[in-house]
Amino acid sequence: MKCGKTLTNDEIGIHKKMINRGATEFFCLRCLAEFTHSTEDRLRERIEHFRAQGCLLFQ
Ligand SMILES: [Zn+2]
Repeated sequence: MKCGKTLTNDEIGIHKKMINRGATEFFCLRCLAEFTHSTEDRLRERIEHFRAQGCLLFQ
């Protein structure tokens, strides 16, 4: 959405979780961290957390 970087499924998934499930454009992890005043490491932890819960966005 912002920097034009190629995204991974994880990045698309965490964007949906944190911003908008119906989104069609997405932040990469760095831009999302900036936008949410978080860090890439914290976002990665959340991705692992959601994956551990069996969330279908993070297969
Ligand atoms: Zn970006």
